[in-house]
Amino acid sequence: MREAGSTACSGWPGRRSVFPATSAPGCRSTVTLCVYLRYPVKIRGHHLVCTYCFYGSGKKKAEDFFGIKNAIPQLLQKLRQNPDMAITVVTNLDDVCDICPLKKPNGCGRSSDAFGQNEKLRGWDRAILEALDLQEGESIKAKELETRIQDRIPDIGTFCTNCSSSSPSGWEEYRKAIRKGLWPDEAT
Ligand code: SF4
Repeated sequence: MREAGSTACSGWPGRRSVFPATSAPGCRSTVTLCVYLRYPVKIRGHHLVCTYCFYGSGKKKAEDFFGIKNAIPQLLQKLRQNPDMAITVVTNLDDVCDICPLKKPNGCGRSSDAFGQNEKLRGWDRAILEALDLQEGESIKAKELETRIQDRIPDIGTFCTNCSSSSPSGWEEYRKAIRKGLWPDEAT
């Protein structure tokens, strides 16, 4: 299968491009749209499960589900195009944070204490990675990650008690997403 984003971004060394475009914020290229994600992608623990909640919501834009721009729609698109895509898991600011307007040099600007806020999120990242039996810096294929999520985190509500995006529905988006899987046509 052709890997999504197999063209080097002409304006942003180290990144990849998939779409002809003209309007990506921060894009330095006049030829292609950088989809903001490096290869291999670097994703923090809690964003692994945020991706499933977003998928289950059926929304297209991050702002419509998270209330803020981030790169989860681009990540989801890439995962769906390539189940063998490698993801490097981390417990800190990641490729999804890269285009978020709340990202600060010292952390996450969701609260006025960006460092403290990011430390809270890092605890959440660590808890998710521990449940998935993954170590910081480890790489895993998207398909294997989905199997672990389905087996080990059937109920995200026990982790994401403070989530303002998915808790209003009782985390139904997440359950729907892990039931269906990112590659339903490949299900046996
Ligand atoms: S900077 Fe904060 S709010 Fe923005 S994507 Fe990263 S963790 Fe989420």
